[in-house]
Amino acid sequence: MTRLFFLAAGLLSAFFDSFSQIQPCIDVRAARKDNGAGQGVYDFNNKWTPGAILTVSFLNGTEWQKEKVKQYAPQWCSYANVKFNFLSQGAGDIRISFDKKGSYSYIGVDAKNRKPAEETMNLGWINDSKTEGQLKSVILHEFGHTLGLLHEHMNPMSNIKWNKEVVYAYYLQYDGWSKEMVDRQVFDRYSVTMTNKSYDPKSIMHYPIPASFTNDGYAVGENFDISDSDRKLIAELYPSNKVLPLDNKTILWSKLENMNIEYNVTENGQLGMRIKQNFTIYNAQNSKCIMAVYFYNADDGKALVDQDGVKASADGKVAAFTYFNPGYQNTEYKDLSLFMPYDELELGAGNFRLKCYVALFDPNLKVITSSGYQYFTFSQGISCKEVKLEVKYEDAGQRIALTPIFTIENAKGVACHAVAYFYDERGVPLKDINSTYSTRESTIASTVDFTPGYPVTLYNNNQMDFTIYLPYTELHLPKGFYRLQYKVVLFDDKWNRIVSSQLYNFTFNQN
Ligand SMILES: [Zn+2]
Repeated sequence: MTRLFFLAAGLLSAFFDSFSQIQPCIDVRAARKDNGAGQGVYDFNNKWTPGAILTVSFLNGTEWQKEKVKQYAPQWCSYANVKFNFLSQGAGDIRISFDKKGSYSYIGVDAKNRKPAEETMNLGWINDSKTEGQLKSVILHEFGHTLGLLHEHMNPMSNIKWNKEVVYAYYLQYDGWSKEMVDRQVFDRYSVTMTNKSYDPKSIMHYPIPASFTNDGYAVGENFDISDSDRKLIAELYPSNKVLPLDNKTILWSKLENMNIEYNVTENGQLGMRIKQNFTIYNAQNSKCIMAVYFYNADDGKALVDQDGVKASADGKVAAFTYFNPGYQNTEYKDLSLFMPYDELELGAGNFRLKCYVALFDPNLKVITSSGYQYFTFSQGISCKEVKLEVKYEDAGQRIALTPIFTIENAKGVACHAVAYFYDERGVPLKDINSTYSTRESTIASTVDFTPGYPVTLYNNNQMDFTIYLPYTELHLPKGFYRLQYKVVLFDDKWNRIVSSQLYNFTFNQN
């Protein structure tokens, strides 16, 4: 252990020559323990309502520190439909301290769970030892968290090949972090995330990574600005409503205000989401109008297709709607909402990036107006898209070694199984005779149990996690030459099948 640490420290001193010390912002959500395999919607329910005006107050700090915050934080508002209103007294939605260790911020509406006297953000590094770029960087980064953004190096698509021992040693030495803390703050990857689907090393939400932290020399420098994809993302999360040109305002027209989506709510025993759209509708007294919400896959832009006729539009798309009948010539709606049960999204197991929008219709089913898209991520069940296999014939050990390579999601802490099955060339399972490597049906199989440690866990990709072995003798074949096949199937803790590899051919010579 001691030796390992000295080795790492040697690498670190080399790295310091050209790099200032990393000041890692703590993800306060990752710092608390979560409870294993997740299901439902994450992260996107942490953002504020588009159009929100967030009040910001300071619990302490010098005028210079406060001015820096006021100078840089509003840069987000150029891209997001949200505003920061800095208070000179009283407690704001966002409460900033400067006197605690490090920098951190509660993620989005998690700030509401803090007591009014407690900070929702600490900016421990706003002092004159920092460059202007570093001041801007940390303020933009923490306000990114406040708007709901998460750490980009933990993006599921990032696939950084960490040199874990070096990283553990660094954070232990400079931040006193335990291995578990480093796992949660650096190596862990979000199951579904508010970062864009693609990984963006230029994101203001990325930690710097010196080349010594990775096995392949990959490095990320200090980012000082909101990146192009940060802009795109924050604009998606806080969309502006479409503005109708004046000449489009027919007799019956409407102005949309805030939209607010509550996720993971239960109505009539069904888990789902409630979409609330506030608006004012003009010249519509006693007109039976419709509010509808439509659902799309955000990646390909296609409408979700309805199969069962429940929560559907007339043309077979997934949609929910309600009638409303304005009581006045001009009527302001503050509480009109729609409930969408998750089951009626009619998606199977997996992670999905979705979007929805609200449209209002007049009594003749003519569109009055529609909202901007709201993006959210929906996740259900354990998912694994593909299993690839590497095979080795270990003649020294007289066994076949099958190494499955796969990424499994939403299975953290679940005791899963990987089973290899063997077949003859026609696909008939090979019979077992001694119940050693066997299924209940007395066919040959070899099983390895595994329990994923992360929401998104990559197995056998750039390090060896486990291999499934079958001794040659357990094939129970008489002397001769055989064409055989094998495949590996993954199961969850209740032996529900998650995914299967394809069938692979191999030849075997029994001497
Ligand atoms: Zn951070």
